[in-house]
Amino acid sequence: MIALNSPVKPNLNKLLPLLEKVNNSGWYTNFGPLHNELTERLEDYLGVKNLLLTNNGTSALQVAAKAIGSRSILATPFSFVATVSAFKWQQDDVAFTDIDAKTLNLCPDAIMNAYRKGCKADTIVATHVYGNPCDVKGINAVSEKNNCQIIYDAAHAFGVKLNNGSVLNYGHASTLSFHATKIFHTVEGGAIVFKDKGNFETAREIINFGINPENGIVDVGINAKLNEYQAAVGLVNLEEIDDIVNHRAELFYAYRNGLKDIVELPEWHPEANANGAYMPVLLNNAETLKKVSQVLNNRNIQSRHYFSPSLDEIFEDSPSFGTTNSLNVANRILCLPLHAHLTIEDVNTVISAIKEGI
Ligand SMILES: *Cc1c(COP(=O)(O)O)cnc(C)c1O
Repeated sequence: MIALNSPVKPNLNKLLPLLEKVNNSGWYTNFGPLHNELTERLEDYLGVKNLLLTNNGTSALQVAAKAIGSRSILATPFSFVATVSAFKWQQDDVAFTDIDAKTLNLCPDAIMNAYRKGCKADTIVATHVYGNPCDVKGINAVSEKNNCQIIYDAAHAFGVKLNNGSVLNYGHASTLSFHATKIFHTVEGGAIVFKDKGNFETAREIINFGINPENGIVDVGINAKLNEYQAAVGLVNLEEIDDIVNHRAELFYAYRNGLKDIVELPEWHPEANANGAYMPVLLNNAETLKKVSQVLNNRNIQSRHYFSPSLDEIFEDSPSFGTTNSLNVANRILCLPLHAHLTIEDVNTVISAIKEGI
């Protein structure tokens, strides 16, 4: 079988000594030494400042919104459900506007159109979907015009650079997920990168019940800290990250090369590298998608029809300023196997199967 995804297995020879260190010190969580070391290493590796580790990528979104003071969100409808359910859960107002048909990312013109039609959101939430950076300049311009902030859900964009700087340096906050299925993982985990140091400090209190070490309880908080065992997994996995990203990117480009004349591919940001987080293809229509999935399935190749449905169809009580492109794309998008254990031979097998299915 060719699996859709296959989590990175932490090297136990390297992991056990770190866990022993934790046991010997008895410091298991609450901003411990491994937590702090992972924070520094990640800031260094990613090229960012003000990085706060969290217990997952969903709480990262929730805490980011609280820390920058947002209450109402204009969101992309084309993403994993957590991009929106995170905010619905904490009763933020959510509205939707459309994506760009080629990049599949939230579209600056569609954002502008929403505000012209009376959108009151104080924050734009955009996903760098499949690791492909949004039009950050365009989104920044419309956010300034409408006096609102930006949160980027960068759960797919670990290690992605835009003009040689981290894509995480755009927006008021960018969030990451370190779930086991992601490129870099701590089993469960996540992080927020804040533009503003003050927001970072607020968030650090929020994830620890609103406690400030000097002044006691200063905010309504939650528990969203990353523990020492998971930080140890992160430190071990981070040692392999260059090999993993290079390998995945190589497979990604091999797929794109082999498929470019056969299927439609999302248009990649011209100034960004690919991290090989996902391998999305667009089929002509829902019928072709069904046919191709069936052929892959018959050959023991996993694939997944996502992201679908368009999130405005799930959250029908949230107003929509039009999501034509998202609805269309959600009907005909398919993700192909891509992970650290996949080989070039596997990629060629998948490409042949798709040629047959079309
Ligand atoms: C994985 C993912 C999340 C959620 O992250 P968790 O760590 O699983 O909570 C949020 N948004 C996107 C786009 C994701 O892919």
